[in-house]
Amino acid sequence: MRITMVAAEATPFVKVGGLADVVGSLARLFVQLEHEVELILPGFSQISREKYGFADAELLPFRYAGREVNVRMQRAKHEGVDVALVHEPDAFERSGVYDDATTKDGYSDNPDRFAFFARVAAEVIANRPPDVVHCHDAHAALVPALLHWVLAWRIHQRIPCVLTIHNLAYSMPARKEVLFDVGFEKHDFFPMSPLEYYGHANFLKTGIAFSDAVTTVSERYAHEIQTEEFGAGLDGVLRSKRESLHGILNGIDTTEWDPAKDPLIPARFDARRLEGKQKCKAELIQAAGFDKYGGNGNVPIVGMVGRLVDQKGLDIFAAAVPHLLDWNVRFAILGTGQEKYHHFLSDLSRARPDKFAVYLGFNNELAHRIEAGSDLFLMPSRFEPCGLNQMYSLRYGTIPIVRRVGGLADTVIDHEESRGRGTGFVFDAPTKDALLKKMWTSIHTWHDPNERTRIIQRGMMQDFSAERSARRYLELFRGLTGG
Ligand code: ADP
Repeated sequence: MRITMVAAEATPFVKVGGLADVVGSLARLFVQLEHEVELILPGFSQISREKYGFADAELLPFRYAGREVNVRMQRAKHEGVDVALVHEPDAFERSGVYDDATTKDGYSDNPDRFAFFARVAAEVIANRPPDVVHCHDAHAALVPALLHWVLAWRIHQRIPCVLTIHNLAYSMPARKEVLFDVGFEKHDFFPMSPLEYYGHANFLKTGIAFSDAVTTVSERYAHEIQTEEFGAGLDGVLRSKRESLHGILNGIDTTEWDPAKDPLIPARFDARRLEGKQKCKAELIQAAGFDKYGGNGNVPIVGMVGRLVDQKGLDIFAAAVPHLLDWNVRFAILGTGQEKYHHFLSDLSRARPDKFAVYLGFNNELAHRIEAGSDLFLMPSRFEPCGLNQMYSLRYGTIPIVRRVGGLADTVIDHEESRGRGTGFVFDAPTKDALLKKMWTSIHTWHDPNERTRIIQRGMMQDFSAERSARRYLELFRGLTGG
């Protein structure tokens, strides 16, 4: 099959969050499973042209916002994937990918930037139609509509389009004029049309309406987003597509995240030989500065890695902190995000360096070291489409404590509920009390070495490989292409 993937991020080129991991590994896996893959990305200045050998390629002329434009594509082949960048410096050469690096605010013209990106991607696709188009998130969501409405006259067959929603919360609402710039007709914008959302545009709504299949990144999230509570205003549209809405759990890159081979951690280990994990913990204790305060090996370390935003339940954690100060437990926290959490966490680590080590920044190596060196891993998310860190934790023998939402609920089995099968700890209510209660149980259980080892080993045996996930996408594609 020829598959064209359209996304804003993909490893190793540019990464802000889990989207990049998933798109990057799916592209490579489709190639390994003997398909031809073209991956279209915005030409962000953060993508090193030199490192990956990008060279100038075709020039695409088309009409945009009432004028003729000529857009340069840049191309490189990487691990068998044909990677195509939309080289448009005005749109993509900025200090950040989505947000200004200094002010941390989202760029106000993000809808214009990604509408433009989608139009260029649709041009590339129309010039050489693949068997299936796989779009990711709101940044690419206009592509199916552009192919089926704006560029249909140039394409002889209907190209099946799949839209994968990694996070419904970022649906890209926009002024309706953006749609006219990108090529849609004014008369196609009317109340209840696929282009309209309460008088404005909403890229994800349009993408959902025009795609042949919509997927999201866990089974549970596929159900949750059809409810008002999790639907972010799009639950009605999603319910109307229920027949073609699928949950395909994300997988993890088991080559990059493999405690038996990981070059980024101080010692290697696997489910049968866990001694290396003790070394990783000892190193984390040192790096975090906890060694100064004694009581080391016996004090559990709870890791937290990720975006420091409301979605991740940082407010629930913050409410629990005053209670945690009296507990015999330590936290190693890595992340970036909302200013209020930066302040909160840096104040906390300054006031209580014996209990809280905080690194505010993006640091992949440290993410690996925290996953390897922690005993427990906390994810109190308010919602979580899939989540990757709990899967990394399971693989690294670090027992996850998670809220029962989305992919967290699909990947972690609660120890108390299913004695003998548990891989972690799961709590329900988005409250500090529910979190504290579960943490208390998890720490108590962790202090029993036999119980602890059994939970760790069960977790390490789970298969969350991205290959499993890639094969499910391919099955879906085959169903749509009839091949
Ligand atoms: P989301 O996509 O909502 O941010 P996921 O758990 O799906 O959350 O994926 C987050 C990915 O980004 C993981 O690979 C995680 O390790 C990584 N990550 C997030 N924040 C940081 C950080 N500050 N430093 C290093 N890696 C990070």
